[in-house]
Amino acid sequence: MITLSEINSLLSNPDPLFLENLAQRSAQLTRQYFGRTIALYAPVYISNFCSSYCTYCGFHSHNKIKRFKLTANEMDQEMQHLAKQGIENILILTGESYNVTPLSYLKEAVEVAKNYFPSISLEVHPMEAAEYKKLFETGVDGITVYQETYDRKRYSEVHIAGIKADYDFRYGTPQRAAQGGIRSISIGILLGLAENLAQDLLALYEHLRFMEKNYPGVEYSVSFPRLREIKGKVFSRCDVDDMTFVKIICLTRTLFPRVGINLSTREEAHLRDHILELGITKMSAGSNTSVGGYTLKETEDQDPQFDVSDHRSIADVIKLLKSKNFDPVFTDWRRI
Ligand code: SF4
Repeated sequence: MITLSEINSLLSNPDPLFLENLAQRSAQLTRQYFGRTIALYAPVYISNFCSSYCTYCGFHSHNKIKRFKLTANEMDQEMQHLAKQGIENILILTGESYNVTPLSYLKEAVEVAKNYFPSISLEVHPMEAAEYKKLFETGVDGITVYQETYDRKRYSEVHIAGIKADYDFRYGTPQRAAQGGIRSISIGILLGLAENLAQDLLALYEHLRFMEKNYPGVEYSVSFPRLREIKGKVFSRCDVDDMTFVKIICLTRTLFPRVGINLSTREEAHLRDHILELGITKMSAGSNTSVGGYTLKETEDQDPQFDVSDHRSIADVIKLLKSKNFDPVFTDWRRI
């Protein structure tokens, strides 16, 4: 395993030739293990109710925003809209409210999603292994859960209240999801939260190694969302510039050649296009981060969880991938 000082020296190395070599190695490994495939998915937000207070997120329980929770019919409308554009892999998101969006509600959403998508992932509140088992049996194959930061002190500064304030419960979530039979698990850190980026990366890599060793049957991916501004809130970020972002992607690829690396529409279109060659294996497209944001007029006046930076449609992203000689993959999973 890489050491902390090696990560630090890599992140601080200004030599363009060094970065070029790292990028080439990362691109080569990605082609070796993934060919020229890029998996596409789209998020669908079905609720913004949240009982946790994370200072960096617009959905937090103390923020006076309009709250929405979709009915099964509204979910159907949103999902149908995405399915018509070719999406087969959906990521269903909620805030983290155990009361407003309990397991029964999530199962209802999965039942709707099954009408349209062979691959269904959830990014919702952490649960127990038995609940993940129920979700898997209902039709969920993927869980996304980010630790956000592995720095316990920083974690408790920004996660003030609610279940998310429990660092250890969150840390154990990928493990419980794997025990529940979930086939694909995505973990990550929110870049911009921790002051010591190298330390956070090392902890993420250790978490991933632990999961790979103990749950080898699971397919893993990692994400590095960068912190964005939220409306009406000034939050002191530890900004991660584009060069550092690229280094993180390439370093991760060289350490974990078989692990998926996701890229969201938080990133600008030009950066997404350039970084595609280097290590990315999965990206969101045509994203809307508001509840009911694709089709529902009634929910128009709301604050999204974060602002999307790449506004291109799903069709445009598919066109772009093909123009760069990539094979867009809509799903690599069918339940039999
Ligand atoms: S990050 Fe998640 S848990 Fe925290 S406030 Fe936002 S939606 Fe709620």
